[in-house]
Amino acid sequence: MRKICVVGAGYVGLVTATCLADLGNEVICVDVDEAKIQGLQAGEMPIFEPGLAELVQRNMAAERMRFTLDLKEAVRASEVIFVAVGTPPKEGGGVDLRFVAVVAEAIAQHMNGYRVIVNKSTVPAGTGAWMEELIRDRQTEAHEFDIVSNPEFLREGSAIADFKAPDRIVLGCTSERAMRVMRAIYEPLSNAPLETPIIATNVESAEMIKYASNAFLATKISFINEIANVCERVGANVDTVARGMGMDKRIGSRFLHAGIGYGGSCFPKDTEGLIEIAERAGYPLRIVQAVVEVNEAQPLRVIDKLESHLGSLDGRSIGLLGLSFKPNTDDLREAPSSKIIEALRTRGATVRAFDPVASGEAERLKWPVQLCRSAYDTAEGCDALVVITEWDAFKELDLARVRRSMRGCVLIDGRNIYDPDMVRSLGFDYDAFGRGGDKA
Ligand code: NAD
Repeated sequence: MRKICVVGAGYVGLVTATCLADLGNEVICVDVDEAKIQGLQAGEMPIFEPGLAELVQRNMAAERMRFTLDLKEAVRASEVIFVAVGTPPKEGGGVDLRFVAVVAEAIAQHMNGYRVIVNKSTVPAGTGAWMEELIRDRQTEAHEFDIVSNPEFLREGSAIADFKAPDRIVLGCTSERAMRVMRAIYEPLSNAPLETPIIATNVESAEMIKYASNAFLATKISFINEIANVCERVGANVDTVARGMGMDKRIGSRFLHAGIGYGGSCFPKDTEGLIEIAERAGYPLRIVQAVVEVNEAQPLRVIDKLESHLGSLDGRSIGLLGLSFKPNTDDLREAPSSKIIEALRTRGATVRAFDPVASGEAERLKWPVQLCRSAYDTAEGCDALVVITEWDAFKELDLARVRRSMRGCVLIDGRNIYDPDMVRSLGFDYDAFGRGGDKA
């Protein structure tokens, strides 16, 4: 059992704190957001994440976990400090390390003995060394400490399962003392039966592993989207092409699903971040630049498709099924839906939408859409429907009922979730991504 403090109660911080408590540690989770901390103290989750509320409740009840606004007290009470604050993109490019700097300075002021300071936030290579210097510079009393880079790979929507059974644990650190502490924390995962491999390396390599992994996954998505765009023109079906490619173990089948592109708080920010890191290092990353360009254009292909079926979109009513960038999350950051909504409105269309979970977030953010009560309600009087997010609930819709309530019959399947023959047999004018071979 270790005394741990996790700074930041967002997706990563809250899940990390909860799972570390669940592994038997004593965890204090700190945030500057008063409403968030008060809510958490009362058992209210600030985010939608399957299984999180129950796990927080269980660990709070067992007194292994608590929430506070008091970073000083948390730093003083903990041997290990995980930093999980946001690292948003900077205006004009680059990674904004402002929040990391504030936390590092506070740690420097409040530490009263040896501390292991662990970066969970995604930060450019060189940040660990910069933090070390900053903390040394700002310490009010001289205390030993070590910086560890321990990037997080969890996915929103399956964050708890991902944290508890990761593919690997990356620990970047050259201090044996800190490494012993980190290995002990992760022992429940690295020991049998899970035997999760630990990659022990230096801080810079660990920091780079995270960016390179996200950029590679984004590359797979943009790659298959470009292939889809070609498939449409040559009469091939991208679903079959992707299946055929994915069976090759060197390629793998995941992240080869064509559609309207990636979004969320990580891939867009981390690809841009990596481009800037490389540029500053004097090496322009052409592949990643192309990945970003392809992804920026992909949501707008929905508009091309709508216009090719409907002509002008002025005065049309378009219904969106889903808003979040992927299922099982209410996160709307960088969701392709926002680009589609903006383009539709610019062309004079009205936009109706329903998301099983993210509608509340869209309302809070005052998105310019008519939020509907259900997918059926969204379809009411629409000229066209667009599948934005592949929620399971949309796969099971009574499409005949959907068709009856629409004014038009266009269905653009932005995630290739429907069987083209079945949908067309219901009278839809159906279009998807890269299904050239399936054109009626
Ligand atoms: P988030 O915005 O959901 O949460 C960040 C939290 O930090 C917020 O609650 C904010 O109030 C808090 N915070 C900011 N300054 C603070 C301070 N001085 N003291 C205490 N708390 C402070 O962000 P997130 O999605 O959890 O991402 C955090 C980091 O993890 C980022 O670097 C991100 O790139 C990385 N990451 C995110 C994911 C993901 O799926 N969201 C996955 C892997 C890695």
